[in-house]
Amino acid sequence: MKADLHSHTTASDGVQKPSVNVKLAKEAGLKAVGITDHDTVAGIEEAFRAGREIGIEVVPGIEISTSSGGQDIHMLGYYINHRDESFLEKLRELRDVRERRNEMMLDKLAELGISITMEELKARKKGEMKERNIGRPHIAEILIERGIVGSLEEAFELFLGREGKAYVNPERISPEEAVGMIIAAGGAPVLAHPGLYRQDELIPQLVRAGLKGIEVYHPDHSEEDEARYLATAERFGLIVTAGSDFHGERNGRVFHGKLGSKTVPYETVEQLREAAK
Ligand code: AMP
Ligand code: ZN
Ligand code: FE
Ligand code: FE
Repeated sequence: MKADLHSHTTASDGVQKPSVNVKLAKEAGLKAVGITDHDTVAGIEEAFRAGREIGIEVVPGIEISTSSGGQDIHMLGYYINHRDESFLEKLRELRDVRERRNEMMLDKLAELGISITMEELKARKKGEMKERNIGRPHIAEILIERGIVGSLEEAFELFLGREGKAYVNPERISPEEAVGMIIAAGGAPVLAHPGLYRQDELIPQLVRAGLKGIEVYHPDHSEEDEARYLATAERFGLIVTAGSDFHGERNGRVFHGKLGSKTVPYETVEQLREAAK
C-alpha cells in the first residue's frame, strides 16, 4: 500500500482538477494521495469528496513558497486545518505577493516587447474554485501559444527561470515562518525537494523551528540526493517522504513526475498524521 504525497491541481498551477488527481491515484494503485497546491488549500474539499466516492485517502496539504537569501524554498505542510481562519488569512497575503510578482514579470516582459495583460493571465484560471492562484507556468503557456517559445523549458530558460530576462523574486516569508504557520494550523511541516536548492545549512535551524519531515524522493533528485537526504532524515529524526510533484501535462509533456511515480509506504501517512497532532 503506497502513497504519493505531492501533487498540484487547478487550485494552483496543476493542469488537472483535484478530482482528477484522485482518480489518477486510484488508477496508479495507490492507497493515498497528497494534494499540495502552491499557497492555497482551495482544492482540498473537492479532493476529499472524490476520495470518498472512489475509495482513495486524500492527505490534505499545501506547498508554501518562501525565500531565503534570494533562493526559493518550498515548504510542504500536511494535515493542516484547511478551514483555520488565521491560516487562510495568511495564505491570502501570500497570494497577494504572488499577484504583485506576476505584475512585475509582465512589466518586464512588456519592456522586452511582449505585452500580456493581467486579464489575459487571469483568464488562464477557469472553473468555479475560489482562492486559486497563478504562477509562472501560466505565463509560460501564453508564451508558447503566441509562438514566442517552443516549450516550457525554453520559457523558463529565456524568461521565467532564475537566469531568465523577466525573472523577479520579491521577498517572501522565511522558511522558518512557513514552518510556524503550518504548525499553528495543526499541520506537519516537511521540507520539499531539498536537492533543488542545496541549502543544507538551513536544515538544522528548520528542525529547531519544528520541521517534521523531508522529501527525500522527488523526480528531480539524483540517487546521490536521495542518499544524502536519507542520511539527513536519520540524523535529525525526520519523517522520510516522497512525491511525484505531479502538475499534469503541459504542451505534451509531464514536468516533474507522473502521479504515482514517487511513493512512500502507507505507514508514512500515519507518521505524518501523528506528527501533525
Ligand atoms: P511559481 O510558483 O510561479 O514560482 O512557479 C513555480 C512552478 O514552475 C514550479 O512548481 C514548477 O512546476 C514550474 N517550473 C519551474 N521551473 C520549470 C521549468 N524549467 N520548466 C517547467 N516548469 C517549471
Ligand atoms: Zn507548481
Ligand atoms: Fe516545489
Ligand atoms: Fe510542487
